[in-house]
Amino acid sequence: MSTGWWTASAKWGVTLGANLDELYREVILDHCQNPRRMGAMEHPTHSLGLHNPTCGDKIAVDLRVEDGRIADYRFSGHGCSISMASASMLGDAVVGKTVAEAEQVAQGFVRFLTGDPSTASPAGDLEALAGVKNFPARVKCATLAHNALMEALEGAARPPGPH
Ligand code: ZN
Repeated sequence: MSTGWWTASAKWGVTLGANLDELYREVILDHCQNPRRMGAMEHPTHSLGLHNPTCGDKIAVDLRVEDGRIADYRFSGHGCSISMASASMLGDAVVGKTVAEAEQVAQGFVRFLTGDPSTASPAGDLEALAGVKNFPARVKCATLAHNALMEALEGAARPPGPH
């Protein structure tokens, strides 16, 4: 089942009269050329770097967690356009969210790209990378920052309740 991707495809194709692949390619290119939240963070509370040897991507994710929420996100490193665009998109998707919500975003994205049919297609700009699941060799590129975020946050989630 690949409903999310194709439903969106039909919908956008009709409304915009544009080729969806081109549209998504533009979103990805825009994030590559103007990466959001790129650069080192002064005092991250959580930080982790990962390397994708298959492609040579190296991405480090810095996070500042305050009151159980992602107050800030920065990434640094270098890699292919897919890995950089994905790291750039991830910031917008997690800043302001609780640790648990951010983990769900990252985990859902990884599951979707690795072919878990029960996972909904990614939301926001990350949707532009949904098609990567048809290119298994690039999945590691697209999920690198997400995996770094999840590993960085491991154990950071707080149980709900009064502070
Ligand atoms: Zn790559």
